[in-house]
Amino acid sequence: MKEVDQLLLSNRAWAAEMLAENPEFFNRNINWQRPVFLWIGCSDSRVAPDQMTQAVPGGLFVHRNIANLVYPDDRNLMAVLHYAINVLEVSHVVICGHYGCGGIQAALDGAPDGPIAHWLEHARQVLDDHRPEIMALPEGEARVNRMVEVNVRDQLLHLARTGPVQAAFAAGRELTLHGWVYDLRDGHIKPLMRITGETVLDEVPKPERVLL
Ligand SMILES: [Zn+2]
Repeated sequence: MKEVDQLLLSNRAWAAEMLAENPEFFNRNINWQRPVFLWIGCSDSRVAPDQMTQAVPGGLFVHRNIANLVYPDDRNLMAVLHYAINVLEVSHVVICGHYGCGGIQAALDGAPDGPIAHWLEHARQVLDDHRPEIMALPEGEARVNRMVEVNVRDQLLHLARTGPVQAAFAAGRELTLHGWVYDLRDGHIKPLMRITGETVLDEVPKPERVLL
């Protein structure tokens, strides 16, 4: 129980600190949120979107799953996306993968039967689509990290083809999709690519390698 108590104590300390800095900190967004970003990232505990971007509460609308996958048959993600674009009217959607992703590693190695293997079938598809390039790399880190990058690209394309994004593009709404990777080794987010309403989706190239 010590860890749980510590978590709750830390929460009280944080709330006190925020109030000391700004007495209106909690009042200012009690009734509504107006985030500019939807963040789609991996569930990995080392990749904390608010902390690594210094976002304040109200700054990021967040969806996380193992290996930051985007599939139109994922009702959870589609509800988040619909709400973010149509109700919150975010102008940026970020998909952020990360160095050494365990989900991507498991998609490469094959996970034991069960819910994780089932979920990662979507990531296996990425491997099937880029197999020659991935398998030409040395086994281990290099393969995982290149697959992290091409996974971000492929998920960004899935995202661009969803109903809410297509409708926003067709309406001329200001909406940009960003593909990023987070490097656990130096704490830096490395931008890979961007998609707007002007982008020809069938011609989107593979991103440069940034996770060396
Ligand atoms: Zn991950």
